[in-house]
Amino acid sequence: MPTETAKPPTETDAVPVAIAAARAAAGWWAGLGWDGRRRALLAWKRTLAGRVEELAGQIRAETGKPHGDAVLEVMLAVEHLDWAARHARGVLRRRRVPAGLLAANQAASVGYEPLGVIGVIGPWNYPVYTPLGSISYALAAGNAVVFKPSEHTPGVGRWLAERWAEAVPGPAVFQAVTGDGETGAALCRAGVDKLAFTGSTATGRTVMAACAVTLTPVVIEAGGKDALIVAADADLDAAARAAAFGGFGNAGQTCAGVERVYVERSVYEPFLDRLAELARATRPGEEPDARYGRMTTPAQTAVVAAHIEDALARGGRAVVGGPAAVRPPFVDPVVLAEVPEDSLAVTAETFGPTVVVNPVRDLDEAVERANASRYGLAASVFTGSRRTAADLAARLRAGAVSVNAVLGFAAAPALPFGGVGDSGFGRVHGADGLREFSRPKSVTRQRFAAPIDLLRLDRRPAALARATRLFRLRHARG
Ligand code: NDP
Repeated sequence: MPTETAKPPTETDAVPVAIAAARAAAGWWAGLGWDGRRRALLAWKRTLAGRVEELAGQIRAETGKPHGDAVLEVMLAVEHLDWAARHARGVLRRRRVPAGLLAANQAASVGYEPLGVIGVIGPWNYPVYTPLGSISYALAAGNAVVFKPSEHTPGVGRWLAERWAEAVPGPAVFQAVTGDGETGAALCRAGVDKLAFTGSTATGRTVMAACAVTLTPVVIEAGGKDALIVAADADLDAAARAAAFGGFGNAGQTCAGVERVYVERSVYEPFLDRLAELARATRPGEEPDARYGRMTTPAQTAVVAAHIEDALARGGRAVVGGPAAVRPPFVDPVVLAEVPEDSLAVTAETFGPTVVVNPVRDLDEAVERANASRYGLAASVFTGSRRTAADLAARLRAGAVSVNAVLGFAAAPALPFGGVGDSGFGRVHGADGLREFSRPKSVTRQRFAAPIDLLRLDRRPAALARATRLFRLRHARG
């Protein structure tokens, strides 16, 4: 059985050394150009893909997730790495933009330059997919990266960096420093050019405060309390299967997993019956082919237990499971119904295999309740109507919406990912993810002298009068 790893030694002292090496490497990496970096990133990608079983084994050993889930995680991460490597040039290279009427004598262009050294702090729940969402895009944009994995998954972090060093010999473009939160704090203080944090909202605040001291910009990918809405015209079997996968998969330890379900009243009971049946048929375990594995940390197990007890104490109903479902290190699936909206199980991130299912009068109430959360990472909608789906997707306060699926965006590398509110800000993945780790630089080149030149000290009154006439014609009426 996979066991929890011993705490790694704190490498706080290693942080400045790694940053100095990364600074030295950043120039070399930027100098390789688009094609050189693409080749290097694809070499690393081939190594990860070729050794997928070994990496999945490392993930499984440190997190306790089943073999299939670990393999899927690597597949998704590699898909993003491949996309970032192949699209960086197209997204970031210098290109001409229209200069506009007032600057018609200028040729205008914008290009995206690397920031330098990016610090990446990652969580334990998807120790490859999640940090690579920042690392792949930061590297593809031409930056060096220093990565601090979670103290629960240091081996995965080291493995990734070792494979990089083999695939891309040369200066230390990508390094991992392990340790606990103190190592992460040292990385925040180290003067990196940007810090990409993925983890809880509370730690995100601490990270942001530390980075504020040196005016280090941050990307915060934090927690979620994602809702799934079931409309009366939905395929209830599909919706229940998705709720079960999104709620119980990975032991519920998925930032954009399903934590709340709002169901139109007319289909509430049949939906609940279907979900309950799936939950009863699901058991976690230590076997490689278990439906899901153990809770990765005892602290999170305690949070899950507290949320279940609070929901029941406030009048919620346990349709499947209950306090006895928590039998560390496992938590059996829990379906809670009619849970008051001010319960912890509705307001706070549970991060365990529990799902709250509440009835709603109509879809307006479903959106209202879904949006009442301080989090806003992702959401799902099940409906038979494309028009209803589009309407709900537009009204949901979330960074991503999946229609008739959960986590639909995870495997689509062109889609940016990130949240609103307490789920954080900034984007990883896609073109926005590449730009997140770049600095736009604008360049203008004067092609000819302006016919009406206002940018001079000895500006002629006639020129100003003509410009004012044109200005009125263009803007006072249009
Ligand atoms: P934590 O916030 O506990 O930790 C995240 C990372 O921050 C870890 O590497 C941790 O190190 C480090 N850290 C801890 N203290 C500090 C500090 N003072 N300064 C700098 N770094 C610090 O999150 P978890 O690891 O528990 O991950 C689960 C959370 O991550 C959930 O809330 C989940 O929703 C969120 N998440 C968000 C995702 C997204 O994309 N929005 C994706 C995946 C997860 P150490 O572990 O060594 O203490």
